[in-house]
Amino acid sequence: MPADRCDLATIYRAMHLLEEIGMVKRFDFGDGAARFELVGENDDGHHHHLVCTQCSEVVEIEECFPEKIEKRIASKNGFKAVTHKLEFFGICPECQR
Ligand SMILES: [Zn+2]
Ligand SMILES: [Zn+2]
Ligand SMILES: [Zn+2]
Repeated sequence: MPADRCDLATIYRAMHLLEEIGMVKRFDFGDGAARFELVGENDDGHHHHLVCTQCSEVVEIEECFPEKIEKRIASKNGFKAVTHKLEFFGICPECQR
């Protein structure tokens, strides 16, 4: 196995380890390529993404559902600790040229 492939496998394993202890979050945008982001100490890492379907550029989105929507979904279905994942897709300004 070439050295660079070996390193990639090592990095991938290390990222999964960090994911398990909650230091990074994995995002999967459905293109088969997983992305990892560091989670800050006082931050649960909760945010959303706007992904360009042409070039895979990712923009961080701060906006989120109001908490009352989650509460309503939870109580309607008898769930607790309801959370969500949400990604937006579109075409970025660069790709519109
Ligand atoms: Zn783009
Ligand atoms: Zn992000
Ligand atoms: Zn959210």
